[in-house]
Amino acid sequence: MQLTVNTPTRPSAIILDMDGTFFLGDALLPGALELLDWLNEMGIRFTFLTNNTSRGKQDYVRMLTSLGVRQEDARIYTAGDATISYLKLNYPGHRVFLVGTESLRSSFEEKGIQLVHDNPEVLVLGYDTELTYQKLVNFCFYLRCGLPYVATHPDLNCPSQIGPLPDIGSFMALIEVSTGRLPDVVLGKPNAGIVQQLARKWGVDVSEILMVGDRLYTDIALGKTAGVQTALVLSGETKRSDLPDSQFEPDFVFENLAGLLQHFSS
Ligand SMILES: [Mg+2]
Repeated sequence: MQLTVNTPTRPSAIILDMDGTFFLGDALLPGALELLDWLNEMGIRFTFLTNNTSRGKQDYVRMLTSLGVRQEDARIYTAGDATISYLKLNYPGHRVFLVGTESLRSSFEEKGIQLVHDNPEVLVLGYDTELTYQKLVNFCFYLRCGLPYVATHPDLNCPSQIGPLPDIGSFMALIEVSTGRLPDVVLGKPNAGIVQQLARKWGVDVSEILMVGDRLYTDIALGKTAGVQTALVLSGETKRSDLPDSQFEPDFVFENLAGLLQHFSS
């Protein structure tokens, strides 16, 4: 008789959402650091992936390290990075009008994207927590001229300790009401391109990757569109009662990262 042990299949690589998954506001969520220790111990590759383009990558590195994450573990890919790659590939050398924070502007300029106020060729909308009425006026004016419209990600709200904050998807709705236009392309999660890039970089098949996040329509949707396994954590935006109505069904559901760690390490 053959004996079998029903242990969960461990992924070769993990993509970790940050807001609502690893931390909430400025506090780590349960199991966060323990999970990183275990991933390092097991040799499982990982990166943080965030749609939030209100902060630059260095802001996230500083934030993670201030919370106790080691510098070498603070590997981050943002929707801003995905947008820069998209612009370089599809609009090389073009003049870009960006609605975004100073931090996002700096990250674009550091990568050689030419940002302008006048006579742009491409329009990019980011999650601008420094949004002003004048920026909206200018963006809508250029949209009516028919210029290409790129959004860094689709999130409707950003989770915080005081509750949901209006994110870029809410700005898109406002802009659509004014101009009748929606973005021509929306990068960030759930756009599958990033997962394919990471799989190539890591030398693993997408089926060996686990996507972990707190949102059905970005994190879990990304997993589904990219063909990776998905784990939903209930420490951020999604409640268990949201699951029956969702078109994106996660492979695993945990209260938080501690639950995920317990599952895969047991
Ligand atoms: Mg999140």
